[in-house]
Amino acid sequence: MADTPSINDRVMAMLHARTEALTTGDAIAEPLIATSVFHLPNATDPTRVYGRIDNPTVQAVETRIGLLENAPTLLFPSGMATYGALSMAVLKAGDAILLLSDGYYAARAMYDSIFADFDIHMRLVAARDIAEAPLDGVKMVLIETPSNPTLDLVDIATLAGRCRKTGSLLVVDNTVCTPLLQQPLDLGADVVISSDTKAMSGHSDVLMGHISSRDEALMERVQNVRNLMGAIPGPFEAWLLLRGLETLELRLSRMCANADAVLPILRTHAAVKTLHYPASNSAQMAHPGFLIGVTFADTAAAGRFIDGAAPLIPATSFGGLHSSADRRARWGDDVEDGFLRLSLGCEPEAQLLAALTRGLDAV
Ligand SMILES: *Cc1c(COP(=O)(O)O)cnc(C)c1O
Repeated sequence: MADTPSINDRVMAMLHARTEALTTGDAIAEPLIATSVFHLPNATDPTRVYGRIDNPTVQAVETRIGLLENAPTLLFPSGMATYGALSMAVLKAGDAILLLSDGYYAARAMYDSIFADFDIHMRLVAARDIAEAPLDGVKMVLIETPSNPTLDLVDIATLAGRCRKTGSLLVVDNTVCTPLLQQPLDLGADVVISSDTKAMSGHSDVLMGHISSRDEALMERVQNVRNLMGAIPGPFEAWLLLRGLETLELRLSRMCANADAVLPILRTHAAVKTLHYPASNSAQMAHPGFLIGVTFADTAAAGRFIDGAAPLIPATSFGGLHSSADRRARWGDDVEDGFLRLSLGCEPEAQLLAALTRGLDAV
């Protein structure tokens, strides 16, 4: 891209997208417009026709996220809905897709249990091996980086170059980083998908997802799938996402600072067998993030940590205000029984360190 705004310019534009156009007496906050039908004496705006086609609140949130992604964006009612819609838009019977064996488990389950019946063939490769994986005949390469939950990195620009040679569509699930920590489209990816249920909304109160791409024809197909299959979010959920989005930069900086603060303790404590965290010199990430993988001796040791670290919460999911820990083996991830994924939240640092230390000492 010739004209790539800095991430802080994007945050500024996102925050002020509405206020720039206001006149005296207008509401500063984005109004929540809950309507399924529109007044249509002579319809000119094709997006103001019916609530399944579009909604002004949903559009406003798409505009804001689009400013962060620097790309046209469509909102979906969950992260998994973006996988489904994108797949319906680009795949056809006989196609092969490449997916990470250490990516989000529901994605593998979806292609395995649903799209396999439509003759879509799934190939799996671990994030650390994708640089050598053959891409010939692969229609769509779908990755996460860092991978989830072991946080291995994939070099997006290198993979994008290989995908261009084989004509494969490169899709990056950017849930873990958000557009603030990593911009896959600027590194050459064709499409970004995201579960906005996590850090993007950040308050653990809404499910949402988005698809962004600078490929207009592809976005038209995605929009057509959304219109006809009905996977449009409700305006209230979209509005909740916007409410969280406006503090994303603030929350992420606290979450990343908290990760920086706890890492030295985790690295040196005898109860920790292994630690997974992206290298801090990765050029493609602005910061290695707020997720840390920690392996304890076994399930019981991981349980003692979680109990001892109260009020940190045992919860699946991540990216919220509250620091949480999740033992991933119980969800079938290919990790040791004692592996926990820690998601650092927005607590004050001293109190967070105290809770974590209590947990470690209880192991
Ligand atoms: C949570 C998650 C999803 C699925 O998102 P939902 O909003 O739960 O549907 C997809 N990818 C990643 C990396 C996730 O963490």
